[in-house]
Amino acid sequence: MIYLKNNSEIDKLYHAGQIVKDTLYMVEEYIKPGVTTLDLDRMAEEFIISNKAKPGFKGLYDYPSTLCTSVDDEVVHGLPNTIPLQEGQILSVDVGSIYDGFYGDHAKTFCVGSVNSEKKHLVEITEECLYEGIKHAKVGNTIGDIGHAIQNIAEKNGYGVVRDLVGHGIGQKLHEEPQVPNFGLKGKGVLIQPGLCIAIEPMINCGSYEVYTKDDGWTICTKDGKPSAHFEHSIAITEKEIKILTK
Ligand code: MG
Repeated sequence: MIYLKNNSEIDKLYHAGQIVKDTLYMVEEYIKPGVTTLDLDRMAEEFIISNKAKPGFKGLYDYPSTLCTSVDDEVVHGLPNTIPLQEGQILSVDVGSIYDGFYGDHAKTFCVGSVNSEKKHLVEITEECLYEGIKHAKVGNTIGDIGHAIQNIAEKNGYGVVRDLVGHGIGQKLHEEPQVPNFGLKGKGVLIQPGLCIAIEPMINCGSYEVYTKDDGWTICTKDGKPSAHFEHSIAITEKEIKILTK
């Protein structure tokens, strides 16, 4: 069942989205060699609470943390820990908030110090994939159009598009219908209507799209050990515009 949102619900999603947007800008300032992802997690949690919201991920599905912090070959759902970040790594940070009953969901991949050109290019293309996907999320298109646009750019660059994890509807639940794959066929899937609110989140691998889950039960990694990047915006589609809630 897909819940289309009215304007006042979209306003609440926007408020929750602005909190996670600000959280990532705050966290970004501290990302450098020597900092631990647990430090970042604590700062993010305090920041969200100080904005009268609650962390959106912590406790959901028994997830223990405020952030997901995924380094290099970790795709998503990495657990914050006490291992210091190192120069040359890429770090994907995913953060959720809940404000007045509505969720915000947002992710970016950051470079730790200076990184090699292979990783830099992956990060740039993954962000481009996100914005290209958003551009296609307009009324009258389908969910397949979004995935097709993302897949096209990623594969043109020789990258793998993760199949096992997808974007999602967002609202009073973090994960609502419909699923929003980062691959697909033009004109296929759910029709995009005014009021549809979704999180688009390309997870793009330098090598093959295949992934596995680590023994911690959470962290998703690339099977070939090559780096992966992740960018995510929550958006609301209205008659007039595609509104990015986390920008
Ligand atoms: Mg998400």
